[in-house]
Amino acid sequence: MWPRVADRLLGVRLSIFGHAGSYGAPGAQCSSYLVSAARTHLLLDIGNGSFSNLGRQIMPGDLDAVFISHRHHDHLADLISLYHYLTFVPGALRHPIPLYASSVTLESIRTLVAADFGRILLPHEVEAGDAVEVGPLQVSFAAADHVPGTLATLVRVAGGPSLGYTADTGPSPALEAFFEGADLLLGESTWLSRPDGAPPGLHMDASDLAAMATRAKVRRLVVTHVAYPGNATAAARLVSDRFSGEVIAAFDGLAVEF
Ligand SMILES: [Zn+2]
Ligand SMILES: [Zn+2]
Repeated sequence: MWPRVADRLLGVRLSIFGHAGSYGAPGAQCSSYLVSAARTHLLLDIGNGSFSNLGRQIMPGDLDAVFISHRHHDHLADLISLYHYLTFVPGALRHPIPLYASSVTLESIRTLVAADFGRILLPHEVEAGDAVEVGPLQVSFAAADHVPGTLATLVRVAGGPSLGYTADTGPSPALEAFFEGADLLLGESTWLSRPDGAPPGLHMDASDLAAMATRAKVRRLVVTHVAYPGNATAAARLVSDRFSGEVIAAFDGLAVEF
């Protein structure tokens, strides 16, 4: 567990620093996922508690970019930890790290982290339909059905494999099209089954995620963001009954090459 990211990777690697849904759980920090290709490291979200795991694998100053999917604390709270580490540890910050998020999310970050956080984390406003490049990684964004400003992501290596990340979302035909044919989908299943009285949209349950992965024809699926007392293993079992591709239950410390 917790191998150091090799200087040279042959493929692309997804490493999980936090996978709990909505709030922490025993043995599980909140959403944070690292995509590494060659010497490039892109961090997708940095939820509460996840910073404690990030340092197990890379020096925080080695991040090439950070993407924050939306304004909820379980996806961005430890940006405060990253900011303080890079601000106060001598030599930790070699250059400001690009930070990609929607305008709504950047506004929350300004309030939560520091008004002048841009000295450390260089803000780039992105919206659905935008695409940016981070080293060899092509990163594109689509609107998720969650709170305003929530963005799902597709990360593709030029001529190589692709990873979709649902962020938090309800079922969404638009996201099924966005993720079509992805090699790996990192998908949320906040609930094992949708609770009575839950508002429409907002999150998926195991059957919603299985349906999204099936319709998008993704090859492999990592089930994540399952809210305690549910857990990713139980959700992955339910998803496996309905999706014919490979299903992997997320855990903190999981690394998947694709
Ligand atoms: Zn969440
Ligand atoms: Zn959320």
